[in-house]
Amino acid sequence: MRLSKMYLRTLREVPSEAEIPSHILLLRAGMIRKLVSGVYGFMPLGYRSLRKIEQIVREEMDKKGAQEILMSAIQPAELWEESGRWAAFGPEMFRLKDRNERQFCLGPTHEEIFTDIVRSEISSYRQLPLNLYQIQTKYRDEKRPRFGLMRSREFIMKDSYSFDRDWEGLDKSYDDMYDAYTKIFTRCGLTFRAVEADTGAMGGSNSHEFCALSEVGESEIAYCEACQMAATIERAPCVDEKAPQEAELPLEEVMTPGTKSIAEVVDFLKIPVTKTIKALLFQVYNQDYKYVAAFVRGDRELNMTKLINILKIAEHEIEFADEEQMHKETGCVGGFTGPIGLHDCKIVVDTELVEAKNLCAGACKADHHLINVNYGRDYKGDIVTDLKLLKEGEPCPVCGAPVKITRGIEVGQVFKLGTKYSEAMNAYYKDENMKDHIMVMGCYGVGVSRTLAAIVEQHHDENGIIWPMPVAPYHVVVTIVNTNNEEQISLAEELYQELQRAGVEVLLDDRKERPGVKFKDADLLGIPVRITVGKQATDRIVEWKLRECSDSVNMNATEALEKTVVLVNQKK
Ligand code: ATP
Ligand code: MG
Repeated sequence: MRLSKMYLRTLREVPSEAEIPSHILLLRAGMIRKLVSGVYGFMPLGYRSLRKIEQIVREEMDKKGAQEILMSAIQPAELWEESGRWAAFGPEMFRLKDRNERQFCLGPTHEEIFTDIVRSEISSYRQLPLNLYQIQTKYRDEKRPRFGLMRSREFIMKDSYSFDRDWEGLDKSYDDMYDAYTKIFTRCGLTFRAVEADTGAMGGSNSHEFCALSEVGESEIAYCEACQMAATIERAPCVDEKAPQEAELPLEEVMTPGTKSIAEVVDFLKIPVTKTIKALLFQVYNQDYKYVAAFVRGDRELNMTKLINILKIAEHEIEFADEEQMHKETGCVGGFTGPIGLHDCKIVVDTELVEAKNLCAGACKADHHLINVNYGRDYKGDIVTDLKLLKEGEPCPVCGAPVKITRGIEVGQVFKLGTKYSEAMNAYYKDENMKDHIMVMGCYGVGVSRTLAAIVEQHHDENGIIWPMPVAPYHVVVTIVNTNNEEQISLAEELYQELQRAGVEVLLDDRKERPGVKFKDADLLGIPVRITVGKQATDRIVEWKLRECSDSVNMNATEALEKTVVLVNQKK
């Protein structure tokens, strides 16, 4: 492709909402363009890289025997009602009605659709196992679309669904997908970790997230260098700190004026923070109870995912309570709430509080706290569970060594769904004896457009993108320094033709621009190899440079050609 003819507009400035390198660079390099918040289009170079990622995904899926189909983005509400997710999905779902008032959504995911097609067309064990996938546009009305392709409202996902006879079959399908994902993200040039993950809105028993390591990632990962433990912190269990052995002292109410925060109480009563109980108050929706009070030790942070999971509710069905309103109905008192004296409210207590003796908690009375509060004697939880958020340096839940925490971008996730959807939607098959059995399912997603952003996040410098060869929009850029010089033009043209003949994807920068502009653009676009044809064209000498290295070397044009072809074939 000749850059003089190419639809490409690079930018010097980008809107201030672009905060992270991938968002800034993809906009600056003219690879993506924003339509509205969270909705982006792909320009020629961006679309080429995107298609390369898709192709890598396709090849690795096909190698595992998965078969590609394409389902519609528009989905009828009835299928979602069957699975129970029409209500459960909440405001993230884009919903619409047709002219006859029939309800639809723009698919945020496709479990229902794939289960529906398979239940109506698969009847025998002979047709199983089956793994179907698609690369398709998904819609989620994200609360906070941001970071460009990273969290958008319209995005491209590869989603696949496996159907097996039994759980052993699912284990094999899951392992296959885990292996395919490892190969996909390796080929994309990503440094990543597969970590145990929460199953969230998908349901099911078992899950791994594939996280590209990055400071800007929204997934927090806990891992242990001593053993192989790696999990999202949402999922990671916490070890209770062993409480000192003490006799239970009599419960006592004390005046603690104005001490609304844990820090203030600790300071006022001169007690260690580990001797306090922290209350977190929530209102919930669509349940037969309205309020939840969660209690953790004063120095701990509540893990919302653990709370949501134990309550078996969706993320959008819970929010911080309006304390004044909640006071009227439950007796809580903002800043002075403890487990004693609360009513009409579900009480969820962290396991660590059970053994700990003589703690301090709010008295459910303004400016008062209770001391020597003991679990069992003074209060009980409706639920007792691990509610804690794991922090750096705390003991690993598997081996006890101090854990590390790092951040990652979730580029893929695999789930063992089990029979959640097949049961709800009656997906059965007949065995050898014509006996009916439920299908056992898995689902597997790759964020294709997010992967594009994650690659840029890991592969860039201050001058622009540095594409790994397999996903580079073009492999090589041949830059003509002076487009008025016949010798330079003719040597560059020769290289351009020869490289293409050898199967290399080449950009020819034949624009009538200053060389500085061309070099800047080449760096910004991140094409892996640059061959510069300048003054020494008379002697057939060119400058050969890798985008990832700062040095360049002069060499004979034929040598440059050969070197490039070898390198591209090796790395693409
Ligand atoms: P997140 O926790 O980031 O919201 P998710 O767990 O809801 O993602 P999945 O349902 O597992 O996402 O979807 C499969 C993949 O699709 C994710 O691993 C991610 O790479 C990608 N993805 C999900 N939401 C978005 C989004 N809003 N924009 C871009 N990619 C997304
Ligand atoms: Mg996910």
